Amino acid sequence: MWRTFRPDAVRVWKDTETVRRLRRYRGIIDQERWAKYLLSKDIAFTGDLKDSLDALWKSHQDLSAAHTEYVDAVDSGKERITEEHRPITSFLDLKTEIANRILQHCHFCERRCGVDRTRDEKGWCRLGRTSHVSSAFLHTGEEAPLIPSGTIFFASCCFGCVFCQNEDISTNPNSGHPISEEELAAVSDALYKEGALNINYVGGDPIPNTHTILGSMKYQSANVTQLWNSNLYCSAETMNLLVDIFDVWLPDFKYGNDECALRLSGVKDYFNIVSRNHLHAYEYSEMIVRHLVMPNHVDCCTIPILEWISENMPDCMVNIMGQYRPEHRVRREPDRFRDIARGVNREEMRHAFAKAEELGIYYSPVS
Ligand code: SF4
Repeated sequence: MWRTFRPDAVRVWKDTETVRRLRRYRGIIDQERWAKYLLSKDIAFTGDLKDSLDALWKSHQDLSAAHTEYVDAVDSGKERITEEHRPITSFLDLKTEIANRILQHCHFCERRCGVDRTRDEKGWCRLGRTSHVSSAFLHTGEEAPLIPSGTIFFASCCFGCVFCQNEDISTNPNSGHPISEEELAAVSDALYKEGALNINYVGGDPIPNTHTILGSMKYQSANVTQLWNSNLYCSAETMNLLVDIFDVWLPDFKYGNDECALRLSGVKDYFNIVSRNHLHAYEYSEMIVRHLVMPNHVDCCTIPILEWISENMPDCMVNIMGQYRPEHRVRREPDRFRDIARGVNREEMRHAFAKAEELGIYYSPVS
């Protein structure tokens, strides 16, 4: 059992299971591994960035395979190519170009609004081209292996959770400050210099800001873990852009079925999409899955999620969280959302932990 998620970094890194499951992340902290976004700058894109989107995706497929091989080789001790041999146009530039094309018919998430955000047309998340950051700081409240975490909170979200605990930023796309790619890179570099073990993109949700985040990496230079902290309702295309680049994933697996997801977050086909994306990320990177236990949703959500994780991602860590509280619309309309209008009780948490234990999941009862 994993009982080491506590704000005691020394203790955490003495835990052999934590080290085993976050080996590459630890290697980057110790400067023995390279963050994948840096390695993506070593891979040359020799085509034309003005090509059709189909042609760019074809190149992306080829370069993704080359990048995976390169990461494995460098991880195994091969020298990284030197500064003077770095290409003018890289795999990362290709990804950024594709992200900007996606923005023209936005399908960063599976809502697939299809609006042209480069013309400031607005889809469900009401974000135009420009990303807004509401705050960025060294977060000490994340899971122990992650802290201090250089956390960047983006405004807006592609979910509409009725219980959102960050409604001030998730429901207001203009909260905080507009930010350019260069400015975001400066924020990331500053967080690293202050001691961040990772750059943690969250919100709201980072998904609608994929173009800005990838674009900022051209200007970032620190060898620091890039961490995607999200509801993971990304489109398959967005996942293809992200999996080569992000070293660690911190997804929220919220619902064990589509009915609860539709009623409480307003999204369709939840389980298929989010489980698909979990598997894709798991194939490429290290991961800590978060699951927020909700009152009256242990049988319909917590148990099916834990069963799915144990069957499909047995090597990942799971943080089973008990800090749910009725906020946002649930607080204002408790009769409408009666099932989740209270906190979780001890019996529900006990049931969740017992199930994780029974399934052999490496979980933490402490967030
Ligand atoms: S990010 Fe998602 S919700 Fe926002 S415009 Fe794009 S497809 Fe729509």
